[in-house]
Amino acid sequence: MARHLLVLGGTAEAADLVRAASLRFGKELAITTSYAGRLRPTQSIPGDVRVGGFGGVDALADYLRRSGTDMVIDATHPFAAHISGNAAHACAVTAIPRLTLIRPPWRPEAGDRWIGVPDLDAAASLIAQTSERAFLTTGPGSLAPFTTVDTVWFLVRQFEPASAPLPLKNGQTIVARPPFTIEGETDLMRRHAIDTLVTKQSGGGTQAKFLAARALDLPVVIVERPPPPPGNRVEAVSEALEWLATQI
Ligand code: NAP
Repeated sequence: MARHLLVLGGTAEAADLVRAASLRFGKELAITTSYAGRLRPTQSIPGDVRVGGFGGVDALADYLRRSGTDMVIDATHPFAAHISGNAAHACAVTAIPRLTLIRPPWRPEAGDRWIGVPDLDAAASLIAQTSERAFLTTGPGSLAPFTTVDTVWFLVRQFEPASAPLPLKNGQTIVARPPFTIEGETDLMRRHAIDTLVTKQSGGGTQAKFLAARALDLPVVIVERPPPPPGNRVEAVSEALEWLATQI
């Protein structure tokens, strides 16, 4: 009988994992991918898909029992701390094995002017003192701390059109999805006279914005990750497949 894997998704790595696991384990593995439902998935993936929050730890534990889930891979974004914490608790109470697949962080290189800050509030306080025109790439759920900053003009990049007007005093939204190129990012920052890039330490994906900031000699305010959930953690899909092989 097939073993049932729940993948907590919403990242490119989750989709890569599902495709690779489906190829490698075939009918031995039944996969369900769970999305929060904030963003429209860009690619179809094998297996079943469910969309929307579970309703907290207890409801997630109930879901795991009812669905006959045998193992969980939490492949959510490094900043998705609530669902990761809930998954850790729910798997602990149901004694279901869980692995975290978390992409490696970006690392600064020679010529980079990165300033690490612990959270979004610290990023907002810092740029209020140091910037006049900031490029904000922290995501639509991360704008609240910047709403009180009225001395900075913001260029805000979002992956999908916003459902509400920009909550910032001064600024403009652009809608664009990766991949981005260094030429495109350099041109964008130059055209908008950006003096500071603000981003989360998400890792993965394209590093074009960092390369562009380096080329333009701009400081990058980088919000560090929240602590990862406890338990086994890997950074690569290939390592997650090896873990799965031990569970099947
Ligand atoms: P979060 O703060 O950790 O989660 C908030 C709530 O959303 C969770 O408590 C859970 O609701 C629900 N949820 C989150 N991920 C879910 C999933 N994969 N399946 C079912 N429910 C989920 O997460 P977030 O930062 O809002 O991110 C939401 C999703 O977007 C995540 O899946 C993440 O992988 C993806 N994402 C996040 C970022 C980011 O910067 N945070 C960037 C790119 C992609 P219940 O408590 O009701 O179960």
